[in-house]
Amino acid sequence: MENIKPLAIDGVELTKPIIISGPCSAETEEQVMQTARELLRSGVKIYRAGIWKPRTKPGGFEGVGVPGLAWLNKVREETGMKIATEVANRGHVEAALEYDLDLLWIGARTSANPFAMQEIADVLRESGRDIPVLVKNPVNPDLELWIGALERLYNAGITRLGVIHRGFSTYGEHIYRNHPQWRIPLELRIRYPQIPIICDPSHIGGKRELIASLSQQALDMGFDGLIIESHCNPDCAWSDKNQQITPEVLGVILDNLVYRDAPV
Ligand code: PEP
Ligand code: MN
Repeated sequence: MENIKPLAIDGVELTKPIIISGPCSAETEEQVMQTARELLRSGVKIYRAGIWKPRTKPGGFEGVGVPGLAWLNKVREETGMKIATEVANRGHVEAALEYDLDLLWIGARTSANPFAMQEIADVLRESGRDIPVLVKNPVNPDLELWIGALERLYNAGITRLGVIHRGFSTYGEHIYRNHPQWRIPLELRIRYPQIPIICDPSHIGGKRELIASLSQQALDMGFDGLIIESHCNPDCAWSDKNQQITPEVLGVILDNLVYRDAPV
């Protein structure tokens, strides 16, 4: 994967630390727009929202689907922020490309599945688009599976690749929702120094209180950015409410982080 290029949108390289924020899930147009307007005031330039939500069990909120892509377009038009969502299959990628999203990410349940990864890689190759894609680590602590997911995309012509460290599933109750096992992303960094690494303290910690310290820890280890879930009314969020923070709190956290741009 020698020819991986820096992450860029519309030909403009993303400045570090790369900060991505927005709700776990797009719920309503009002919630998407209000969160975006507040995030703009906190200086965020890349907006995330899940449109299709991979839930552990059936019966929960599984995302608003395609109508949410139009809301994300509205966020870009009104605020100028770049827009990102999670894709997990051919239909998702086709819809996201049709709505001209700026950045895609692959979720932890999808990067663990080589069939799904190959399907996504195939549809991206067919599209001929070199859209930036961030690949979350697989739910299980399997570095080779993570690298394999990246290779499938790279072999399909995607050169703007990055990774997201969101921690690994463990059995039972722990401080972390997903254990960080930092040595795994750090080994990936050593083997592929050209691939930007973004930390997802929201899904690692699973709780608001852990976001600031996990974020600083990641930056101290040389991570290139953060993806943090935020919501205009976190206590009423339809998914992952314990780990979402208001855009205002996010602004305070970001203002207090120290970023040294130091290699590991
Ligand atoms: C998410 O980003 O909301 C999400 C579903 O994350 P993960 O794939 O890391 O569980
Ligand atoms: Mn989430």
